[in-house]
Amino acid sequence: MDYQIVLLPGDGIGPEIVAEAVKVLEAVGKKFGHHFHFETLLMGGCSIDAYGVPLTDEVLEKAKAADAVLLGAVGGKVGNSDWYNRPPKERPEAGLLAIRKGMGLFTNIRPAYLYPELKDRCPLRSDIIGDGFDLVIMRELTGGLYFGERHTEVVDGVRQATDTLVYNENEIRRIAIKAFDIAMKRRKKVSSVDKANVLDSSRLWRAVVEEVAKDYPEVELEHVLVDNAAMQLVKNPGQFDVILTENMFGDILSDEASEVTGSIGMLSSASLGAGKNGLYEPSHGSAPDIAGLSIANPIATILSAAMLLRYSLDLDKEADAVEEAVRKVLHDGYRTPDIYSEGCIKLSTTQMGDRICEAI
Ligand code: NAD
Repeated sequence: MDYQIVLLPGDGIGPEIVAEAVKVLEAVGKKFGHHFHFETLLMGGCSIDAYGVPLTDEVLEKAKAADAVLLGAVGGKVGNSDWYNRPPKERPEAGLLAIRKGMGLFTNIRPAYLYPELKDRCPLRSDIIGDGFDLVIMRELTGGLYFGERHTEVVDGVRQATDTLVYNENEIRRIAIKAFDIAMKRRKKVSSVDKANVLDSSRLWRAVVEEVAKDYPEVELEHVLVDNAAMQLVKNPGQFDVILTENMFGDILSDEASEVTGSIGMLSSASLGAGKNGLYEPSHGSAPDIAGLSIANPIATILSAAMLLRYSLDLDKEADAVEEAVRKVLHDGYRTPDIYSEGCIKLSTTQMGDRICEAI
């Protein structure tokens, strides 16, 4: 099959890590007989330098028309670049918000997977980790407290601030459907996280999730209150498969979950909308402190490319092959400096990409 993929390497280490992910996708194409057509475009600080804005309309249109978009990272050293002597709406990171909005992406998926080889980097005790954990957090991206009406006023001489948490049933239903679809590709369990003992928005969330669950009889559904979910993530993360939740709960829980995996250089992510197209990117930033040194870990971006294969192109076997290759390379003791430990073999960014391609 032929696929059109837009690449947005961005700034800092972005171009280095995206180049490795492209090598891996090419290795997948060769092995499985697919043709990936890549178009590399500018977004973030590099786009500001070239066009004066972090995201041009032309790039957005091409991203929308592609089968999938792979992003590196955007941004530079804050306070140390002309990019930040501009209003917030014109800075590199504004490109991210603009592309998410422009592509209509309402679901963010962040996996938290603990590789047995990296167990010593996990801050949890080994009896808690057990055989490891493998979960994904699906966070609603476009509603809730972050987008509700807000204002600050003075009432009877006292300053008062108000934020509103609004969800309608359509916003809940569309992400719930995504969560159940993804659970069907995994271990078939959805843990829907809410605060239904207090919030009306959570009671609606729970009711709509239950309606959607009726179409997925094979998937086990549980409801977990958010305070309990935060606790369970550090007490017994292995119990979770797909965690489905609203915007702010997801913001907090996904950071908690990523922290327990131990290394930012390993964490992939995907943002999906109504169709198949999606935006795939590592969870980390542009790491300007190590840009150009060829020591950045490309695995988060390579695993994001695996998610791209699985969720946008429906190439599950191919995604499995990439994830398996990453596991093999780690098992064989190869490490970039950020995940290096005594007795392992240290590799540069490009060497790590090469090893993963060989393992495919
Ligand atoms: P960061 O994630 O870029 O870096 C944090 C630390 O982790 C640094 O020490 C860095 O060297 C290290 N690190 C990050 N990725 C790594 C990798 N792949 N391999 C090895 N080490 C890695 O966060 P920051 O320093 O707070 O932000 C730097 C810039 O990135 C800022 O301009 C910020 O706005 C931007 N940013 C962009 C995104 C994005 O594009 N989605 C996300 C977060 C931050």
